[in-house]
Amino acid sequence: MPHKAVVIGAGTAGLVAAAALSLAEPTLRIHVLDRDELPRGPENRRGVPQGRHAHLLMAGGLTAMEALFPVSVRDRLLAAGAHEIALGNGMLARTPDGGWFHRWKRSGPHMITCTRALTDWVLRQILTEARPHVSVHRASVEGFLGDARQVRGVRLGQETAHGLGRELAADLVVDASGRGSGSLAWLAGVGITGVEEKKIDSGLTNATRIYRIPPGAESFPLTLVQANPYDGRPGRSAMVLPIEGNRWMVSAAGTRGGEPPRDPEGFLRYVLGLPHPVIGHLVSGAEPLTDVAVSRGHSTDNNRRYFEKAGQWPERLIVLGDALATFNPAYGQGMSVAALGAQVLAREVQRHGLTGTGLSRRVLRGAARHVDTAWSTAVGVDVLYPGVVGARPGAADRVAAWYTRRLTRAATGTYEAASALWDVTSLTAPAARAMRPGALLAALTGPVLPQTSEPPLQPSERRILEQLGSAAHRPSAPRPSHTT
Ligand SMILES: Cc1cc2nc3c(=O)[nH]c(=O)nc-3n(C[C@H](O)[C@H](O)[C@H](O)COP(=O)(O)OP(=O)(O)OC[C@H]3O[C@@H](n4cnc5c(N)ncnc54)[C@H](O)[C@@H]3O)c2cc1C
Repeated sequence: MPHKAVVIGAGTAGLVAAAALSLAEPTLRIHVLDRDELPRGPENRRGVPQGRHAHLLMAGGLTAMEALFPVSVRDRLLAAGAHEIALGNGMLARTPDGGWFHRWKRSGPHMITCTRALTDWVLRQILTEARPHVSVHRASVEGFLGDARQVRGVRLGQETAHGLGRELAADLVVDASGRGSGSLAWLAGVGITGVEEKKIDSGLTNATRIYRIPPGAESFPLTLVQANPYDGRPGRSAMVLPIEGNRWMVSAAGTRGGEPPRDPEGFLRYVLGLPHPVIGHLVSGAEPLTDVAVSRGHSTDNNRRYFEKAGQWPERLIVLGDALATFNPAYGQGMSVAALGAQVLAREVQRHGLTGTGLSRRVLRGAARHVDTAWSTAVGVDVLYPGVVGARPGAADRVAAWYTRRLTRAATGTYEAASALWDVTSLTAPAARAMRPGALLAALTGPVLPQTSEPPLQPSERRILEQLGSAAHRPSAPRPSHTT
């Protein structure tokens, strides 16, 4: 009899976990369960409210996906309208200290930009068309079956597709049900309690609006004004990124006390009032296609559950994705950490078999190493913001922040420093990469090229910006409410 696995959640983590399992054990029957009715196309849905905000797919996550799926995820995303952005020269980014990253001849790593709905839809398509043993069902999971030694399946709620029944037995269960996962309560139901949990909340609010790209501005680079965690004030940032359908997604984000507003005038005022008004100028001349979508508070905190350290852990149960750890989304890491965790799952199942003793522990420990990198990036900065809940910056945090600040400054004009920063933020290397001799030397000596206080635009880009920005100076345009 072929083995059977249940994956809870058909978000990015659930889809990459299903891909990993089918790669490692091709005859495995995999039931992916989601309480949402999944849309037929790339559409937002209730179970993934964060899908309305910017979702960058970093190089580390994309490489993991390429290894897990039977066809190229990159090619399919690009064919569906996603964009590939070179970190070395395909974007404009203003750093917290005011300098802009140099645009290098070398492209550096790439990231993918599109809506989150498109990413999930493409992954779903690839999975179900190429892996006949994978099926996706509507079902709401309400608990685990089994006991503290071994999980044996899941208990299902009322809202469940016909034919599944109320209990679904499985040889392996993967919880990929996201930030709101019931795993702590479900574990308690099989006798496991006391899992250590940490929450660090900078009170980040995200506000996002979609615009039609103005004619002629299609090739304008992704533009980012980063938040400043070093001046003791709330962090405020924004980004314009190209997405499918000839559209820009404009996402603003503010920590506690610096939240972007929902009303369109206030939103525009907010981006115009950032330390550099470039994003406000771009959108002043663009046609909005949606309202401003806002997510606040708990949906953006850093929340980690240390399952890998639990004194007792049942066999045949794995937790991945946001159910395992979430990060301040400003760093664009969640989907990549999920994919890297799924890669660990594939490797361990290939080595030890689906029912091998200790599989769950090994996967959780391996996945935790990728969580560590993303966690240190996000939390290392978040602890510095005023009003952060759950942590206070200690001496080690201050040293780490000092170093990150130096390295970022060096990265504006020294390739070695930029490359180290990209590798860590793209999750292609662990955090220790930032301390290698070349990066260390650059951080200590500062940038080789002089810092610029204006974005490094090519002449054609400057013309586009001037043209679009002229709308911001018309009398009816909202004035910035605050500048720093
Ligand atoms: C504002 C914001 C911006 C972000 N930007 C980025 C970014 O730029 N880059 C990046 O990599 N990450 C980003 N993230 C993080 C990213 O959204 C997640 O890390 C990533 O989607 C992985 O999520 P997941 O699949 O674990 O959970 P989710 O995407 O939340 O999916 C969970 C799924 O489980 C289902 N479900 C929940 N409970 C049950 C149940 N009991 N039974 C059955 N089904 C259930 C839900 O319906 C849902 O489909 C951002 C997050 C936020 C909040």
